[in-house]
Amino acid sequence: MSAAPRAGAGGEDAFCVVGGGIVGLALARELLVRRPDSAVTVLEKEALVGAHQTGHNSGVVHAGLYYAPGSLKALLCARGRSLLREFCSEHHIEVLECGKLVIATRQGELERLHALHRRAEANEVPGLRLLGGSEIADIEPHAVGIAALHSPRTAIVDYGAVARALAADVARRGGRVLTNAEVVGFTVKGDWVDVHHSTGAERARRVVVCAGLQADRVSALAGDVPEPGVVGFRGEYLRLVPRAAELVRGLIYPLADPRLPFLGIHITRKIDGTVELGPNAVLALAREGYRRRDIDPSYLVGVLRSRSLRALLRRYWVHTIEEGVTSLSTRAFVHRARRLVPELSVNDVERAPAGVRAQALGPNGELVDDFVVNRVGPVTTVRNAPSPAATSSLAIAEHLCEEIGVAVAGRSEHG
Ligand SMILES: Cc1cc2nc3c(=O)[nH]c(=O)nc-3n(C[C@H](O)[C@H](O)[C@H](O)COP(=O)(O)OP(=O)(O)OC[C@H]3O[C@@H](n4cnc5c(N)ncnc54)[C@H](O)[C@@H]3O)c2cc1C
Repeated sequence: MSAAPRAGAGGEDAFCVVGGGIVGLALARELLVRRPDSAVTVLEKEALVGAHQTGHNSGVVHAGLYYAPGSLKALLCARGRSLLREFCSEHHIEVLECGKLVIATRQGELERLHALHRRAEANEVPGLRLLGGSEIADIEPHAVGIAALHSPRTAIVDYGAVARALAADVARRGGRVLTNAEVVGFTVKGDWVDVHHSTGAERARRVVVCAGLQADRVSALAGDVPEPGVVGFRGEYLRLVPRAAELVRGLIYPLADPRLPFLGIHITRKIDGTVELGPNAVLALAREGYRRRDIDPSYLVGVLRSRSLRALLRRYWVHTIEEGVTSLSTRAFVHRARRLVPELSVNDVERAPAGVRAQALGPNGELVDDFVVNRVGPVTTVRNAPSPAATSSLAIAEHLCEEIGVAVAGRSEHG
């Protein structure tokens, strides 16, 4: 912490963003759009931007079916998906509107399918259609079910490519993206904050922490409260071999369990033409535990001591076991996908890289569903930015600017 801080060249308007994932980069860009003369620095601990959740996800541009109408998730997803499409078109990043089917496979799921339809309509998801069992094959010839909801505007994109384009745009607008710069502490000095990182220090008026899996740890460095804490849920994927990938045109989902923020093992066409099954949701044994053998004893001890995690395990023990089984058994994993596309077999899959979701935990073990933003003095932290935060990132950036009082030109600071 001894290096002399580099004061932001923008004087009053010096901002520091911790985390070069899609949310931090979108925020840095939005700050520069709103305040072109400000000094904006992004500090990212890895060698490349988008190295964690942003670079390890399903790549779906969600249309907003699931979220409680009026919630931040619903509002930011709706705005975010159109901003994202605009950004991708300006930056020549392919967005493929391959459409999504949510399939009811059992009579007992029909009521939930209709409830999802009503919710999606309330969220004004475009082009929705309820299909009978015999109509499913018109959209996905190899999928089966007794009814389905079709969202034709749901799309796919490479979020890693979006993050790289955002970083380039930040640099073009005069901002700085420093990689290999891990934030290790903050010192508040009057109206300024010194942000200490592994290769130096930055001085800023405002700091926004968008550190994903590390959000609670980094905000604790600024004196923030420990809760909600963040736990990592590994999402494992299986990739279909090319001949099986031909069985799938777009995105095929089961009906999600409404008690969980995860969507269940689904079948996802990726922008590179490959098709994946997953992700499941298994408690990671390290914050960035991408493999089963990644175990961080100090993280584990902390997590096991946490009252909220014990409450989580009591509340969701059945799901914990079910998801654990899919992690250990490829057959069980594929079996879940075969409910949607019965022609799939264990011979059609190979392991693909996993992702780890940052999920905030409430005091009673509840999985916090909506976005959560905390503030301690000049340091604001995004404590929970789960899916669809990649879809919503550009809208989250607008929301964060309003939270920290950086209005669009011509509007009052808090208006
Ligand atoms: C398996 C999986 C599937 C998903 N599928 C989808 C999907 O289809 N569609 C969708 O919209 N969303 C999806 N999501 C969610 C989406 O990927 C995330 O919500 C989004 O990427 C969050 O972005 P972020 O910038 O907040 O976090 P991250 O991308 O995790 O970025 C946080 C960054 O902070 C950095 N950092 C941490 N600590 C420090 C420190 N001390 N100093 C400096 N830097 C630090 C990290 O290195 C990291 O780069 C999925 C997520 C997962 C894991």
